[in-house]
Amino acid sequence: MQLEGKRALVTGGGRGIGQAIAQALARAGAQVVVCGRSVRDLSAVAAQVGGTAIEADLLDRKSTDAMLATVGRVDILVNNAGIAESAPLEKTSDELWDRIIELDATAPFRIARALVPGMVERGWGRVVNIASNAGVSGYGYTAAYCAAKHAMVGFTRALAIDLARTGVTINALCPGWVETAMAKEAVSRIAAKTKRSEAEAKQTLEAMSPQRRMIQPQEVAHTALMLCSDDARGIHGQTIIIDGGAILK
Ligand code: NAP
Repeated sequence: MQLEGKRALVTGGGRGIGQAIAQALARAGAQVVVCGRSVRDLSAVAAQVGGTAIEADLLDRKSTDAMLATVGRVDILVNNAGIAESAPLEKTSDELWDRIIELDATAPFRIARALVPGMVERGWGRVVNIASNAGVSGYGYTAAYCAAKHAMVGFTRALAIDLARTGVTINALCPGWVETAMAKEAVSRIAAKTKRSEAEAKQTLEAMSPQRRMIQPQEVAHTALMLCSDDARGIHGQTIIIDGGAILK
């Protein structure tokens, strides 16, 4: 139980990658708080991990601030909540751009700004930012998402310099396609747009990886947990790509 006595906040911990990370942290002994919008999902995960759920819409700064006011001490912050919508440039509205940048880049920054000083004061902390391989590479029709995830990687690297001598580490995980609701939505969108079956659309996404498969949420959780260990304190400011080698193609 290497994380006994530590308190973790996992944003978007009600399903998908966030749920897998919440479970992994709890198995390692951490007290886990999950936040997001869907109370039903959050309550189910909180019950599974013996933790707490806080309802918060991270697209709404007041709601984020209310969550931060009630969350209490946080030793491990996992900035995981995110959305991915794709559109060609001319169909990327101001609203779409602002929404993705707000949730995928600004909210993680604002949450880190609120919680990292406490970690610094206590001399121990972990920030794990769930970015994407779109944070280190470009993909078609995803200008807003790529920009937001690049921003997340950028603030990870910059903060790593500021935090280097504090006992707090910050890193970004950059998965390729992970088999969650987000990937399922992408498969349905591609199938509808290209008039192919969902199975064919899924194969298109799987073929982006030389391993010809999607990553499982538990694989991302495994690395997140590793980063929270004491022996990972030298891993700092890194972007760890978990995509089966997709980025190499
Ligand atoms: P998911 O299953 O769609 O989960 C997204 C999570 O974010 C949900 O828990 C959702 O909870 C929460 N969320 C969305 N909007 C929110 C809001 N306004 N306020 C608070 N929480 C919100 O997706 P996932 O695949 O697990 O994605 C998790 C992270 O991994 C995201 O940052 C995503 O960009 C990144 N990622 C995913 C993939 C992939 O292929 N799946 C690949 C690379 C990176 P509520 O809806 O209840 O609010």
